[in-house]
Amino acid sequence: MSTNIPKTVDKWLNNVQFWLLPPACILCRQSGQPGRDLCAACESGLPRLLHPCLRCVLPLPPGIQGEALCGTCQVLPPPQVRLLAPFSYSPPLPVLASAFKYHHRLVNGKELAAEACRYIAQHYRLSRLPDLMVPVPLHQGRLRERGYNQLLEIARWLSGPLQITIRHDLVYRMHETPQQAGLSTAARRQNLRGAFRMSENTSFEPGQMVAIVDNVVTTGTTIGELARVLLRHGAAEVHVWALARTIL
Ligand SMILES: [Zn+2]
Ligand SMILES: [Zn+2]
Repeated sequence: MSTNIPKTVDKWLNNVQFWLLPPACILCRQSGQPGRDLCAACESGLPRLLHPCLRCVLPLPPGIQGEALCGTCQVLPPPQVRLLAPFSYSPPLPVLASAFKYHHRLVNGKELAAEACRYIAQHYRLSRLPDLMVPVPLHQGRLRERGYNQLLEIARWLSGPLQITIRHDLVYRMHETPQQAGLSTAARRQNLRGAFRMSENTSFEPGQMVAIVDNVVTTGTTIGELARVLLRHGAAEVHVWALARTIL
């Protein structure tokens, strides 16, 4: 009988905790779904990306069926073979994401990552998942300023359910990227040239596939630059997983 006591106490404590601190929705503060900090109504109202291009997630023109590439990706394929992001970066995503990024509202990131995790798992039902996850690295200066790398947190939330190893030590950010807004694609790429560098004495095993983990993809220039570095150092394929993408 004594072996059952810790389990019973544990269950009792969980019940007490549940009733004292019921999950509250991160958007409306009403009760969340069981064990979650998001209610069903707010979850169904989140702006999902529908019928996205496989490589850039921008919406495909009407009439195109199934998985396909947009016209731009057919002409100029980006280095990643797949980009997955469940949400469009439109309200309420900017408020949720910036509170997570700048004000340590971890619960926001955790709920969005849980949504991304389900989305990713569904997309790889019939294909092989990447072997490693590489969160987009922050420059040391920015890391000190913010106190934590929110992309590493997202990768941690994904790694358990998907059972993929995180490698945040493979790539370093050499310099902070100057403001990218308003620049042409060529100028943005110039800004980022040499921004990422692989750690010394690191390489990929033959056939290893890598998933870059990002928060919000805006133009795709940063993930493109990082993907090129990973491919140059022997990654067999690069995929990108983000929470959201800006639709211009
Ligand atoms: Zn709600
Ligand atoms: Zn595309």
